[in-house]
Amino acid sequence: MGGLVIEKVRSGVEFVPDAASAFRRADAQVRAEFGRGIDVNSTYRSWTKQLAMYDAWNAWVEGWGPHPGHSKAVHPSESFHVSGTALDSDDWRNKRIVEILAQNGFIRNRLHVPGEDHHFEWLRDRDQNYGKAAADAADSSLEDDEMKETYVWWRDAAGKQQNLVYATGGNGMADHWESSDGVYNTRVASAHNLAGPSAEISEGHGRALLAKLEVQRAGKR
Ligand SMILES: [Zn+2]
Repeated sequence: MGGLVIEKVRSGVEFVPDAASAFRRADAQVRAEFGRGIDVNSTYRSWTKQLAMYDAWNAWVEGWGPHPGHSKAVHPSESFHVSGTALDSDDWRNKRIVEILAQNGFIRNRLHVPGEDHHFEWLRDRDQNYGKAAADAADSSLEDDEMKETYVWWRDAAGKQQNLVYATGGNGMADHWESSDGVYNTRVASAHNLAGPSAEISEGHGRALLAKLEVQRAGKR
């Protein structure tokens, strides 16, 4: 199990990097439409943790252990949770959110397993937005001639929140500022009269956007 890179999206939400990107895209879209993030019960689990769940489940099935308080757990060698691509979410009841997850590669792949309605697995070849950042995936829903201000943010290595508003479909004018209070929506709403969503992006993507905007501002291509 060495070599697996696990990326933390937020507390309790961990995936391998490609699945983390996919989750961020889906999460940004859900925030845009529902004003809240995706419900998350469980994502990445260590081999040890999954093995403990597997043992507890089998003990119960075989009649010598208490109910473990979770649904059937497979052996860690078979678990998409251990490989960092699984998501358990109560949002399986929301048809639109299931659709958004599916567009970003999170498929309900094991519906044949009883009690696994909540279980999604990220599959690269099903991810229609593979390689796109959260903000770019949201942009792709715009008409070509439509101009829209997009607001994104990330946390830098020093823990400061970096906020960026940029215009898509227009001249790329931008506003960039740091904040430490986390109250970015209020500031953006008043400064830009935005009612729309914000998306958390990676620091790398944020810096790339900033660099791109600097080039535009300087009039270069
Ligand atoms: Zn699961």
